[in-house]
Amino acid sequence: DLPIIYFVTPTYPRREQIPELIRLGQTLMHVPQIHWIVADDYDGCNNFLDVNRFGIPYTHIASPMPDAYRSISPSPRGVANRRAALNWLRQNNKKTGILYFGDDDNTFDLRLFNEIRDTKKVSMFPVGLIGLYAVSSPVVKNGKVIGFFDSWPAKRKWPVDMAGFAVNLEYLSQHPNATMPYRAGYEEDAFLRSISLRMNEIETKANNCTEILVWHTQTQKSKAPMVRIDSQYLESEKS
Ligand code: UDP
Ligand code: MN
Repeated sequence: DLPIIYFVTPTYPRREQIPELIRLGQTLMHVPQIHWIVADDYDGCNNFLDVNRFGIPYTHIASPMPDAYRSISPSPRGVANRRAALNWLRQNNKKTGILYFGDDDNTFDLRLFNEIRDTKKVSMFPVGLIGLYAVSSPVVKNGKVIGFFDSWPAKRKWPVDMAGFAVNLEYLSQHPNATMPYRAGYEEDAFLRSISLRMNEIETKANNCTEILVWHTQTQKSKAPMVRIDSQYLESEKS
């Protein structure tokens, strides 16, 4: 049996939320043995997101960012969501399978899932459309990671994007202090430090990190506020 990929997606209410989740959900429909953890930066589980309709196993979590962090600029986006997903994996004793952090606006080549599925500890691979260099990637020599190519090193030990690595859940469960701090820009670095990752343990994917199978696409945000058109209003428009 294929190990399950726990695909953790932070999301938050804005005009683009539903189309982003439809596009991502319809990507995940093509992937066998996937469990989609949709963690919304909101006080409750909005029914209109209707994660159920994609017909894939899922968990819908309400994981609002604490107010204290919301007012900070830059705010730690998606952290409350990913922390909630990590807690869910721990509380449900998920010790087999693969963890992957896939934001709601990224673009995933279906071949990525084949690549990360056999991650033994931690695997890494390039992410397209990151920063000034247009790609963030491990630098590989003789099959081993010897450094990183990333336009924002920022003194990080692990200068990688959230979408550029996958973690085996057995390995994760051996690191009970695994966490992601509320520190914008340093989430990946701190998370990988918290699981005591060592350079020589990294498994390279995507043909020795020569192919891009995930892209940090970003959707233009509408400047207009969210509006709620309720059914009563629609009824009155019809008549
Ligand atoms: N996100 C969130 N709350 C916010 C802003 C973003 O939960 O207030 C989520 C968002 O849906 C995405 C992730 O956090 O999955 C990263 O945010 P975004 O894509 O805006 O950041 P960027 O692409 O600039 O890194
Ligand atoms: Mn994004």
